[in-house]
Amino acid sequence: MTHRPEFPTSPATWRGLPAAQQPPWPDQQALNRVLADLAGCPPLVFAGECDRLRTQLGAVARGEAFVVQGGDCAETFAGVTADRIRDKVKTLLQMAAVLTYATSVPVVKVGRIAGQYSKPRSSPTERRGDVELPVYRGDAVNGLEFTAEARTPDPDRLRRMYQASAATLNLVRAFTKGGYAGLQQVHTWNQDFVSASPAGERYERLAGEIDRAMAFLRACGVRPDEFDDVDFFTSHEALILDYEEALTRRDSLSGHDYDVSGHLIWIGERTRRLDGAHVEFASTVRNPVAVKLGPTATADEALDLIEKLDPHREPGRLSFITRMGADRVRDLLPPLVEKVTASGARVAWICDPMHGNTFTAPGGLKTRGFDDILAEVRGFFDVHHALGTHPGGIHIELTGEDVTECVGGGAAVDVDDLVHRYESACDPRLNRHQALDLAFETAELLRD
Ligand code: PEP
Ligand code: MN
Repeated sequence: MTHRPEFPTSPATWRGLPAAQQPPWPDQQALNRVLADLAGCPPLVFAGECDRLRTQLGAVARGEAFVVQGGDCAETFAGVTADRIRDKVKTLLQMAAVLTYATSVPVVKVGRIAGQYSKPRSSPTERRGDVELPVYRGDAVNGLEFTAEARTPDPDRLRRMYQASAATLNLVRAFTKGGYAGLQQVHTWNQDFVSASPAGERYERLAGEIDRAMAFLRACGVRPDEFDDVDFFTSHEALILDYEEALTRRDSLSGHDYDVSGHLIWIGERTRRLDGAHVEFASTVRNPVAVKLGPTATADEALDLIEKLDPHREPGRLSFITRMGADRVRDLLPPLVEKVTASGARVAWICDPMHGNTFTAPGGLKTRGFDDILAEVRGFFDVHHALGTHPGGIHIELTGEDVTECVGGGAAVDVDDLVHRYESACDPRLNRHQALDLAFETAELLRD
């Protein structure tokens, strides 16, 4: 490795281990040039911010806070526009406001944003009629368009991934630190939305209550900074390890390595094998990390992951994002939670009700039903309540726009509507109405 001479003990221990889902780059030298450049680029996030998120997730692991993590399945370079980023952040802030106000539990806000550009795929190729081409692996790797040119992996896209992440994060920081995300803006986030749906109206009533509560506090002379400033963190699946390693920096204060491509990184269901490169890489950085656990995950695998990723049993270091499917969560989740809890580990348990509930609609589009999504969240809460553990959060694929990708929810989208506005580059996302509906329903479960 020549590209990071300034970090002699860089976390390159993953090299040589089985690394699933790495793009078949056609030109290794071109890749190395990009990685060398990225290794010299400024960090996107800072060690202290990652520590702060780890502390907040520690509160989740102890049962004192709830996390809302959400955003696109796959961000796209074309999606880096002020309106789209604002609408996504706004949707997450609205969900967080609903949950915080309804439950009086602090809500940790994490976007699947500013780095979610690469996708694991179940097949290396895609066939349409007689034509077979490399599968789309996210804008970090190739283009969605079904042509040989677009589908050829291009390492220069990693540079664009960094730039797109930087541009997105810049705007996210402006929104969340510049007053826009302050609680006195609860109405503003809803302005373009209120009359459009039952969820918007329901939210408007809640925003009115928040206003009255704040007016009361101000009248009493209380005006905490927290009303103006919001902590909002970024996360993505750490899939392309060359990229993640090139963006790893040693923190001069602590001497620890941090993956400065995002605050939290997670390992997906397809790349979580214990002796694989992804788990090894994550074990070498100090960021908070998460692992997706699907229906085949065993309790012993979960315990091994804890041993490898959280050897010091530090609350907030490791989150498990479970995605079992609505009809299986009640059977598959309890043994995991029981054994992990019995081991003494304190992980944050987060429910991803999206990835276990995908089906193909009659017209051929991949979709998810709002009722199934809600049913998995309910199952997740019921399991934790029965075991006396804390349902720590939800992980949602969503967008701030009025897309028609998932069916159901208050402003009902049905199967015939899917064609109207299906824009996802990968999996179907909740639109803003559906995301808010889910927040209201989840708030009731959390309050119970
Ligand atoms: C995803 O989060 O988009 C994803 C691919 O999830 P999983 O790894 O759980 O399948
Ligand atoms: Mn997805």
